[in-house]
Amino acid sequence: MAHTPAELEALLMQRSMSDPELLAATEAATDYRILPDATVIKIGGQSMIDRGRAAVYPLVEEIVSARKDHKLLIGTGAGTRARHLYSIAAGLNLPAGVLSQLGASVASQNAEMLGQLLAKHGISSVGDAGLSAVPLYLKEVNAVVFSGMPPYGLWMRPSPDGVIPPYRTDAGCYLMAEQFGCKAMIYVKDENGLYTENPKTSKNATFIPKISVDEMKAKGLHDSILEFPVLDLLKSARHVREVQVVNGLVPGNLTRALAGEHVGTIITAN
Ligand code: ADP
Ligand code: MG
Repeated sequence: MAHTPAELEALLMQRSMSDPELLAATEAATDYRILPDATVIKIGGQSMIDRGRAAVYPLVEEIVSARKDHKLLIGTGAGTRARHLYSIAAGLNLPAGVLSQLGASVASQNAEMLGQLLAKHGISSVGDAGLSAVPLYLKEVNAVVFSGMPPYGLWMRPSPDGVIPPYRTDAGCYLMAEQFGCKAMIYVKDENGLYTENPKTSKNATFIPKISVDEMKAKGLHDSILEFPVLDLLKSARHVREVQVVNGLVPGNLTRALAGEHVGTIITAN
């Protein structure tokens, strides 16, 4: 049953913010996509940027040519330097919120480097505050680089176990795509996609071209190629109901994925 604005307002004034009828009334509004033509791509930290020139230069070239046809929000991962920081900070018994700030500083370093490499093509990187200018960058040059770590900082919701921040750059990039109602979310990493086991450590790993969140959980793969909270975000999404993980070490993969081709593993909400 659709509510009028006045009924919705009455519910909001009177009820608890988690009241089921109130929530149903807020759901009744038509979905609105803020940046429906943009695609978010996440450039892996450990899997891509930490490999340096061999991995990054070809990808930069691909991004420069892809942005002629696509609007790109390019998020960066953190990677090995963040893992090093986490190990020191966890050893010092510092909390998840502090580790989150440390991880964010590394994702920002990667955004800074990628931004400098793309500078001569007119593509900039933006800090947190610059995110409000994203529509302008997209309109002018079709692309912008951002730091993939969500800016929760000290307010990071801690995990029940340990102090590693659960929402890192896979989640940060996914949330950008979902909140902006983007067209697609592509993860650029160093494997062809999801396997039955970690292909770096298991010879028997077989490739899985397409899988749902529930199937991934049933197979015990919820903590594998994507940070596990992304799966739950994906399941309850309004806009971005599938993501693709592609191998960025294979030239052309990103371009093909942007064109809507199935080149890696597609993970679906249902
Ligand atoms: P990023 O650089 O974006 O942070 P990660 O290194 O966190 O990427 O994730 C990619 C890595 O996940 C791959 O290099 C691979 O070693 C690992 N991995 C673990 N389990 C799996 C799996 N079942 N299938 C594919 N990759 C896996
Ligand atoms: Mg990772």
